[in-house]
Amino acid sequence: MESLNQICAVVDVQGFATKSHFYPRELSVIGKNIEVNMEFDTRQNAKYLPYAEQKTIHYQTQKIHGLTLRPSYEARAGLKHANRLRRVLWRIYKSVVTEDKPYFGCKNQQLAEILEEEGIPFIDLDSVAPRLRDLDKLNGGCAWLCKYHTVTWAPHLTCAER
Ligand SMILES: [Zn+2]
Repeated sequence: MESLNQICAVVDVQGFATKSHFYPRELSVIGKNIEVNMEFDTRQNAKYLPYAEQKTIHYQTQKIHGLTLRPSYEARAGLKHANRLRRVLWRIYKSVVTEDKPYFGCKNQQLAEILEEEGIPFIDLDSVAPRLRDLDKLNGGCAWLCKYHTVTWAPHLTCAER
């Protein structure tokens, strides 16, 4: 039976989930020997996406995480394309995994699906830990966001690093 002390790092991703795609924008990996918080560039222009997807994206920016579909113009240089997420996850996993700690801890359903497809072992923290939202509530709702969330701030928004 897997347990929480077999987790080598906790991983979270924030991004845009449409019917057909998941566009990651932010990846965060926190563990004993690692602390990563990075942005991806989706290289998508909402203008050229179907109207239904534009609406979904707008909603997620305003109501879920405050991230824009693409990073700011100045931030784009050197950022990895969103389609590199799986490769980055594998590279980080290989760098932190040990015999005693073979699992990522995962807080997020889209990410769980990706890890599942990739065959990267993980423990779904939603099933064992109190939900982040409930923790925020316990802490008096004092949520914080990392610097990538440029559009708007509200206490209910989610951040991969938190
Ligand atoms: Zn963030």
